Amino acid sequence: MISVANHFLYFIFEKINKMSNVNAYAAQAADSPLGPHQITRRELRPNDVHIEILYCGVCHSDLHTARNEWANTTYPVVPGHEIVGRVMAVGSDVKKFKEGDLAGIGCLVDSCRECENCKAGLEQFCLEGCTGTYNNPERDGSGMTYGGYSKEIVAREEFVMKIPGNLPLEAVAPLLCAGITTYSPLRHWKVGKGDKVGILGLGGLGHMGVKLAASMGAEVTMLSHSPSKKEDATKLGAHKFVLTSDEEQVKGVQHYFDFILDTVSAEHDYNFYLSMLKTDGVMVCVGVPPTPAQIPAMNLIFGRKSFAGSLIGGLPETQEMLDYCAEHNIVSDVEVIKISEINEAYERMLKGDVRYRFVIDMASL
Ligand code: NAP
Ligand code: ZN
Ligand code: ZN
Repeated sequence: MISVANHFLYFIFEKINKMSNVNAYAAQAADSPLGPHQITRRELRPNDVHIEILYCGVCHSDLHTARNEWANTTYPVVPGHEIVGRVMAVGSDVKKFKEGDLAGIGCLVDSCRECENCKAGLEQFCLEGCTGTYNNPERDGSGMTYGGYSKEIVAREEFVMKIPGNLPLEAVAPLLCAGITTYSPLRHWKVGKGDKVGILGLGGLGHMGVKLAASMGAEVTMLSHSPSKKEDATKLGAHKFVLTSDEEQVKGVQHYFDFILDTVSAEHDYNFYLSMLKTDGVMVCVGVPPTPAQIPAMNLIFGRKSFAGSLIGGLPETQEMLDYCAEHNIVSDVEVIKISEINEAYERMLKGDVRYRFVIDMASL
């Protein structure tokens, strides 16, 4: 009897411990569309969580990377860092998760865990360089990381987030990047009641920025170059809408904002928006156009203005944001697509034709 039980346990152990071949979607070159691809997920280590991916959001960073717009892509690349799924198995030391739990992974899957930034919960600024969910070398030298456009993923426990059960999963996925990338600067610069906030660009990040800033009590103005988004901006919680191509509307917000969150993905003139800041105002850049910002010092000196950047958020803050969203019933507005529609989705994202985040249903892979 014992030997049968042992045999059974050994069989289960072997099954769990096996490296798995996993279906994915990858770009093979900057100018080729994404298509089916096979990857291998590593054997489960004691502190690993193995997740079946149910949904993965489509971030503009996926597109920048797939097309090598930041000149740092290693092919083949499997994008996707807004991952929500269900735990298939856990390593022997894992405490936070058990099989069947909901789980999420954002933009990071590893860091040194020892430097002062990691210790402070700012893993995105790990002094040894954090490990991104895709297109980054694994810390053990075993190859590159592959992201969420795939059926399964394995990551160490600390980098896996608890997903609240009361929200629709497909709409939670974008919180793992778009949510935290907008939540973190709003918190860091202590945006709240009485602040006049401009959210620049109404896309995946921008629509989360509007919802979150409004929920924190700020007066929110949507700064957009798309007249068709005005009504949506109001529905999302914006108090005002400024069409950035309309001179009169732009005149009305000169020296107006305490804080501007810039989510624009394409080249644009930062100085145009700096002129909208009050004295001591702060403009925080989260959008990453491939071209560098050109800002004369004078535009900051007059008005003692700050121009800053912000990168996603650390692990504790990402969990805080998820819990905050669960409490305030905040999710992303999503259009669920099949994986085979990803190339068309990229084209539509470039045209601003998404309300407001594509999310891939991984059952389609
Ligand atoms: P997205 O959904 O495509 O939204 C970008 C928005 O920018 C568009 O909806 C559009 O809004 C505006 N825009 C686009 N082209 C423009 C142009 N030529 N002039 C002015 N506005 C323009 O992209 P996303 O997923 O939100 O990502 C936005 C950027 O943030 C990307 O560069 C991405 O790589 C970066 N990102 C950074 C972080 C970070 O940690 N810092 C994290 C995630 C993403 P309107 O139509 O309203 O004008
Ligand atoms: Zn992202
Ligand atoms: Zn570190």
